[in-house]
Amino acid sequence: MTVAVVLFTADLRLHDHPPLRAALASADEVVPLFVRDTGIDAAGFGAPNRRAFLADCLRDLGAGLRERGGRLVIRSGDVVAEVCRVVSETGAGDIHLAAGVSAYARRREERLRRALDSGGARLHVHDGVVTAVAAGAVTPAGSDHFAVFTPYFRRWSAERVRDAFGAPRAVPVPDGPGSEEVPVRAGVPGVSAGLAEGGETQARKRLTAWRLHGLTAYEDRHDDLPGDATSRLSPHLHFGTLSAVELIQRARAAGGAGADAFVRQLCWREFHHQVLAARPAAARLDYRTRHDHWRSEADAADEIEAWRQGRTGYPVVDAAMRQLRHEGWMHNRGRLLTAGFLTKTLYVDWRIGARHFLELLVDGDVANNQLNWQWMAGTGTDSRPNRVLNPVLQAKRYDPDGDYVRRWVPELAALAGPAVHEPWKLRGAERARFEYPAPVVELADGLARFKRARGLD
Ligand code: FAD
Repeated sequence: MTVAVVLFTADLRLHDHPPLRAALASADEVVPLFVRDTGIDAAGFGAPNRRAFLADCLRDLGAGLRERGGRLVIRSGDVVAEVCRVVSETGAGDIHLAAGVSAYARRREERLRRALDSGGARLHVHDGVVTAVAAGAVTPAGSDHFAVFTPYFRRWSAERVRDAFGAPRAVPVPDGPGSEEVPVRAGVPGVSAGLAEGGETQARKRLTAWRLHGLTAYEDRHDDLPGDATSRLSPHLHFGTLSAVELIQRARAAGGAGADAFVRQLCWREFHHQVLAARPAAARLDYRTRHDHWRSEADAADEIEAWRQGRTGYPVVDAAMRQLRHEGWMHNRGRLLTAGFLTKTLYVDWRIGARHFLELLVDGDVANNQLNWQWMAGTGTDSRPNRVLNPVLQAKRYDPDGDYVRRWVPELAALAGPAVHEPWKLRGAERARFEYPAPVVELADGLARFKRARGLD
């Protein structure tokens, strides 16, 4: 009997899973392995919302494997040591793994390769699992990655994406390798009350609902804050309960302006992944320095805390920050606004905001989070690095009747219409009715400080 191991990481699904398919094609039995990697927690990537969502994903993956005659083997510890242990317990000759782009994933891959080589087992790293187009597969002349989105999108769009395929009928797993219990969401402390449920089953339900009811209107409605009309598939893409290849293929097959706009947005994810793969240090360091001397954490402590708590006195910023805390997710327009507010209006280091997002976001992802933060801070790939989003104008544009703000800032719920965006305009007793803070900074002062800092005045 030949045995192969499939090490699941950011690909917690059975549909469209190239490592699993390759393992089943080449071995008699397969060990579907997930390692609760203690290194991930040590690196600060194991925030409660993602741990809870992960627990759902593992439970669902285990159930899917059981339906196919198999089971999921769960271990905890150092991922390389655990893989080696399973290899020696089962005599596996091949280990299959999806390619990752972060520095952590790359190190894991290298360490695995070295450890397995010395024991005579082979590591197979598969592209087209986490992203549709492998990071580094398309490059401009003279560089190892695209630094500008539009030319990347053009080249990316012309790449052939392999055909998505279904889940296997059966997964024969050898007797023997012991497994820990599947973790349960209820055991994770500090989880957001409104956190979505994880797992491939949920992902597929959401995909179907999205194709039927959301995709067509995406172009017109993706910035509609109260309408909440985006796919909310980001946690599923992050955990790989849904394949990017399948999603892109299905959207392209549907066609139309909504699908085109959606595919373009999916390409942003792939764009950031290829930037991070080429420049792993961009997770921590400015991709392009603007010679910022950000205000120190101590100097801006009160404002940073007000921002984290959703009490800046700018209702749309506060609404979005409260949505993040309550759901572990935030609308993209909210992310743009709140990140712009922190980095440009308050002139606070993007790393402080990125860290807070990573503590709460269920889709919190090194490539997408750190590089979108840098984009907003103007230290990343934005070709207009000094643009400043005015939160009041943005609120009036993307939440014209104020419904999004009223949903998340209940202390202002009695203020009808767009007036909710500017409570400071109320006078005397009328203003005193609302227990809501005054703005932490005047927008004009924030703008002037930013311009001075960047030498723009
Ligand atoms: P949809 O609008 O339905 O888009 C579909 C998919 O396209 C998303 O699920 C996502 O995978 C991808 N996508 C859309 N916009 C972007 C983008 N700007 N960059 C990269 N991919 C995109 N996204 C994350 O997945 N994880 C993060 O940690 C993350 N942090 C962010 C931080 C900031 C400061 C900003 C401005 C954006 C961040 N984003 C992040 C990108 C984007 O906000 C989310 O992907 C999106 O809001 C998820 O909602 P959705 O699935 O409904 O998106």
